[in-house]
Amino acid sequence: AKWVYFFGKDRTEGDGKNKNLLGGKGAGLAEMTSIGIPVPPGFTITTEACVQFYKDNKNYPAGLWDQVLAALATLETAMGKKFGDIENPLLVSVRSGARVSMPGMMDTVLNLGLTDESVKGLAKSSGNERFAYDSYRRFIQMFSDVVLGIGHHQFEHILKDMKNARGVKEDTELNAADMKELVEKYKALVLSEIGRQFPQDPKEQLKYAIDAVFDSWNNQRAKTCRKINKMSDDWGTAVNVQSMVFGNMGDDCGTGVAFTRDPSTGEKVFFGEYLVNAQGEDVVAGIRTPEPIAKLQTAMPEVFGQLEEVYKKLENHYKDVQDIEFTIERGTLYMLQTRTGKRTARAAVKIAYDMVQEGLIDKRTAVLRVAPEQVDQLLHPMIDTSIKYDIIAKGLPASPGAAVGKAVFSAEDAESWAAQGEKVILVRAETSPEDIGGMHAAQGILTATGGMTSHAAVVARGMGKCCVAGCGAIRINEHQRLFTASGVTIKEGDILTINGSTGEVIVGAAKLIEPELSGEFAEILTWADTFRTLGVRANADTPHDSQVAREFGAEGIGLCRTEHMFFDGNRIDAVREMILADNEEGRRKALAKVKPYQKEDFLGLFTAMEGLPVTIRLLDPPLHEFIPHNDEEIDRVAKASGVSAEHLKAKATELHEFNPMLGHRGCRLGLTYPEIYEMQVYAIFEAACELVKQGKVVKPEVMIPLVGSYKELEILKDMTNEVAQETIARYGVKLDYLVGTMIELPRAALTANEIAEHAQFFSFGTNDLTQTTLGVSRDDAGKFLPIYVEKGIFKEDPFVSIDVSGVGQLVEMGVSKGRSVRPDLKTGICGEHGGDPDSIAFCQKAGLNYVSCSPFRVPVARLAAAHAAL
Ligand code: ADP
Ligand code: MG
Ligand code: MG
Repeated sequence: AKWVYFFGKDRTEGDGKNKNLLGGKGAGLAEMTSIGIPVPPGFTITTEACVQFYKDNKNYPAGLWDQVLAALATLETAMGKKFGDIENPLLVSVRSGARVSMPGMMDTVLNLGLTDESVKGLAKSSGNERFAYDSYRRFIQMFSDVVLGIGHHQFEHILKDMKNARGVKEDTELNAADMKELVEKYKALVLSEIGRQFPQDPKEQLKYAIDAVFDSWNNQRAKTCRKINKMSDDWGTAVNVQSMVFGNMGDDCGTGVAFTRDPSTGEKVFFGEYLVNAQGEDVVAGIRTPEPIAKLQTAMPEVFGQLEEVYKKLENHYKDVQDIEFTIERGTLYMLQTRTGKRTARAAVKIAYDMVQEGLIDKRTAVLRVAPEQVDQLLHPMIDTSIKYDIIAKGLPASPGAAVGKAVFSAEDAESWAAQGEKVILVRAETSPEDIGGMHAAQGILTATGGMTSHAAVVARGMGKCCVAGCGAIRINEHQRLFTASGVTIKEGDILTINGSTGEVIVGAAKLIEPELSGEFAEILTWADTFRTLGVRANADTPHDSQVAREFGAEGIGLCRTEHMFFDGNRIDAVREMILADNEEGRRKALAKVKPYQKEDFLGLFTAMEGLPVTIRLLDPPLHEFIPHNDEEIDRVAKASGVSAEHLKAKATELHEFNPMLGHRGCRLGLTYPEIYEMQVYAIFEAACELVKQGKVVKPEVMIPLVGSYKELEILKDMTNEVAQETIARYGVKLDYLVGTMIELPRAALTANEIAEHAQFFSFGTNDLTQTTLGVSRDDAGKFLPIYVEKGIFKEDPFVSIDVSGVGQLVEMGVSKGRSVRPDLKTGICGEHGGDPDSIAFCQKAGLNYVSCSPFRVPVARLAAAHAAL
């Protein structure tokens, strides 16, 4: 089998489009080489080789090593240098590269091929001894870390001591003799740590490094990263072996990273940072603070010109924003990586919109470029700037949005505090790939060092998390778990606010406000609307929420929970009076007081949603939810409703249920206390008829919850129709309406054909359907569900993303059985899943007519529905 693919000016073997085989980095290197962009030659070991390596118990598949040696020989010829040569040695980097980029998650070794002998060759051929030994000490450190398992910090320690001893601040101020001495100290450290000399055979070094890259596929941080990003553990990583170019040879050298457009705002400006006389990781690792790329234009105008030409060529070629790595060796530019640039939601929207205007992509592509999961962050709060707040420091606006939370100082704390329901801001000097779990758990991230392309910034943008980076004004004391800025001390657990759009760090909780849709986003959503076939409605109970939903593009209300109206203001007293009544007469008397409120509610709702369908669910929760349970509350309510506390307590005991979720609720209430549902239906139709009289268009849809048998629905449907007809006749208007049911019990799905005889629509209540199908109580699942997800028993929380193989089957069955007797049956979903992109994709496949979700998820759902249809 072919395991190794060469890339070089005269011959590039791999298909630059094949990321699955070559990994993203390998494919990018091959593609850049083949379109004539300057890339140091090298070769890529395929992801298949890595997969095979794991299958064979971490042994190289047959032929791999021979192919590596052959490619190495080709590389030597191409470069006119020999591996391990004592005159002019070839040095290589060994770089990981999975299908999908996992920045910093896996390992890379630079300057491989240096030994005590070849370093002299490098010094001679470059005429620069300092550079040669600087490269060697970097190599020893990286190789030791990646291959030999000796942590960075020990080397950093030696380096720091050396700098202190010489009285200098930057690495660049150390001279050749210092570097030589460092090399000796590093080697001595290796010897004492592993009990043998640092390996002096370049081919052995190469083999070890390749092994280490293969191994890094399964290190903890890579695994966590894959889990968060839902990537498969079976893909494996490619290994890229590439001839070195050097950014650390002097002041006409450097290294940098850049984006073809601003990844934070999407603005069409070249964006990036570079460091003079530095190598590889220096920029990303935040060791020195880099210069903005614009400065390169004056510092090295010729190189900047080359870079401009290259980045434009790349963006035109890939027709998307590219995230590039480059190195300048003695005034010559080399490209080391290109990949699709990660961007914030705001940038994704702007870039997709702009590229359509520029004629680079079509609208379909633009819609697909904006990830539904991601735009959620555009719908998140921003700081209300009209209210004064205290800024104590300002860093870089690394990832937009605002976050409020308690300060924590380690990734572990972020995770454990968040697990206990705390909102936290992770405060670090700089994040490293190990911190990824904590970053995920935090509301936002604040770092003291590092630039706009530092680890924290890149990862936060990818996660859609607010981040302020490089905030030099904060002084962190990790040990005491506090930081100070402008004379203010923020201790662990203190509340702070960060603004990732401005870089501000604020004491206390700033007031956050809801955002508005940008014009470009609104436009992209209208493009999305032309592609989608699923309708999008909202779950809303108040005129205000309905208004918000409508502004976000909802095409109706898919679920109005009437119980929310029962709690409001002083009507709760009448509701309680109804519950406390001993007979029907007493209940009717109390309900008569509730009815005007309900009617008021529906008038507001119908008015806000004029012309659009409004699905109203009749009372669903068990009655005991409306009466107080603790003594203090009981006393208060008893007084207010003129009954004794004893009476109230007795009633509470009487209504107590062992299993409320499966208890006296939903249509069971309507069947045992018909007067409750009757009152609600009157309120609905009187409100509707009144508005029709005023010339308004109202489309009520009455929905009966928790039906398990068609008989239940038959009785309640007949009642609804009677009340509706009587009311319509009384008002003398014409009004179309629907009566339907929720499908939220397995039995309802199983007998959907019987139920559909009596239902004009089905709304899958997937919250309850998930509870009842899985036999898992949503309110009690917190104790075991996370472990189930961790152990992979559930791929995801089934209350967040629909359990396709279980619950999904019932939905599909419900749709097909229902339509078998009523071909025009309208079907929708109104659980939490209605706003979840994966679940929406499922709904499309299942043939539902619409999804319904919370108002702020409506834009997400519109986009997800378009993605599902495309
Ligand atoms: P990551 O995937 O973590 O970005 P890379 O494999 O891209 O790791 O390498 C880390 C750093 O080393 C990058 O800044 C890259 O530009 C630099 N680098 C890698 N290979 C070479 C090379 N052949 N010559 C010079 N610099 C290199
Ligand atoms: Mg890289
Ligand atoms: Mg329900």
